[in-house]
Amino acid sequence: MSLKEQYPITLYNTLTKSKEKFEPIHPDRVGMYVCGPTVYSDVHLGNVRTFMSFDMIYRYLLYIGYKVRYVRNITDVGHLENDADEGEDKIAKKARLEQLEPMEIVQHYTNGFHDVLKQFNLLPPSIEPSATGHIMEQIEMVQDLLDKGLAYEVNGSVYFDVTKYDEKHSYGKLSGRKIEEMMESGRMLDSQDEKRNKIDFAIWKKASPSHIMRWNSPWGEGFPGWHLECTVMSTKYLGETFDIHGGGMDLLFPHHECEIAQSVASTGKDPVKYWLHTNMLTVNGQKMSKSLGNSFLPQELFAGEHELLDRGYSAMVVRFFNLQSHYSSTLDFSNEALTAAEKGYKRLMEGYRIATGLSYQAGTVDTEFEAKIKQNIGELFENMSDDFNSAKTLAVLFELTTTMNNFKAGNNQVGQLSEATFNELIKHYTGFITDVLGLKEEQEGNQQLVSGVVEMLIKLRNDAKAAKNYALTDKIRDDLKALGVSLKDGKEGTEYTID
Ligand code: AMP
Ligand code: ZN
Repeated sequence: MSLKEQYPITLYNTLTKSKEKFEPIHPDRVGMYVCGPTVYSDVHLGNVRTFMSFDMIYRYLLYIGYKVRYVRNITDVGHLENDADEGEDKIAKKARLEQLEPMEIVQHYTNGFHDVLKQFNLLPPSIEPSATGHIMEQIEMVQDLLDKGLAYEVNGSVYFDVTKYDEKHSYGKLSGRKIEEMMESGRMLDSQDEKRNKIDFAIWKKASPSHIMRWNSPWGEGFPGWHLECTVMSTKYLGETFDIHGGGMDLLFPHHECEIAQSVASTGKDPVKYWLHTNMLTVNGQKMSKSLGNSFLPQELFAGEHELLDRGYSAMVVRFFNLQSHYSSTLDFSNEALTAAEKGYKRLMEGYRIATGLSYQAGTVDTEFEAKIKQNIGELFENMSDDFNSAKTLAVLFELTTTMNNFKAGNNQVGQLSEATFNELIKHYTGFITDVLGLKEEQEGNQQLVSGVVEMLIKLRNDAKAAKNYALTDKIRDDLKALGVSLKDGKEGTEYTID
């Protein structure tokens, strides 16, 4: 039996608001689409949280044997300053302010986005399409929606007719909002008087004379509405109906609601089997966001240069911190929580180092111990298959870390396990840490160098001790201590720990 059959996934589907068994459209393949960033500014730590959570989901699907086509887009046109089809295009505005080509802005922040995700050890998606690369397809879909009578043109702009759509379908089924309430609440902005109803949304916007990002269309020069790009690109690369669509919870309405409406109106089919929404990184209970002024950038985090930060924290510590909570729970940032995460991360990676250095030696198998380890290995999968519960998975990894420490201290012998179980243990203990949770040793290149140099100094110190040069012996120990390296002399020789 394959791993994915042995440990079937259940996940919380935001559309049905229930936990469901995951049954992809094709048994061995998964199509997953995640809304990517709007590349008009540097990504902050909140954005990183969302992408990191989907990276973990992607990694686990791969680990248990699915072939995954993971599409994550780049929004480089059409995302306006507010959700009510008002304001300037975010990219065009930045280009105007910086006096740069919009595509220079897009390239600059796309590069930055990639650099940041690399630091947090995210795998690249299978396809990373951009909205401006799919203008033709978006124009075609606008035309299709017009032909079907579910969109209307006014003065060079085209709007999706939500009320008409709702006569036959159900607008609001993802967010649980009622169309009547939406009609009553909210205000009609001045320049929205082109819309038949205020809940209609733009799928094509006429470009004003000063608007720099513009394309020819059957309705004159303009640019696509934000919600359209995700419908067009997900359909193009994953089909009219695909398995997983993800994004942050703040995108659920209106963005994802509109995506469903566009697809259903165009193809008659529900586009997505499972909607997954990740929760927000918060600061003092408030969503981390650029506009609230409570966000910080990864570089500020690493350097500890932000008023919210007592000191710097590394990318892997933040990744570990994120994994300690379920992706659908909010995660509140604090220095205390990050300091605790740093301790946990270091302990786990120490276990990882022990595990990679162990080799099997036959002994007397302890059936109880063997059964316990087998159970732990099973729990790693069960927890991740239970709606990707990384927090519980980490708890099991810590139980196994104690086992690793016991092997090291000689409290247990590897031979108390059968060779097959020992091999499974090492494979999945290390596999879950690196391949599933995406944690890695920091500064891998330097790690070996540091341990080599410390070992050399320990040897020199032993030589000095043998020559009764106690002044030098003490100096080596004290100088290393000042650098954060503590030496401990024992029967087996001298061991060191790095603070
Ligand atoms: P944007 O570039 O604004 O479209 O955001 C990119 C992604 O980051 C979206 O999926 C958002 O839901 C997500 N996001 C924004 N702020 C936060 C936050 N504080 N915590 C987690 N995810 C966030
Ligand atoms: Zn999207």
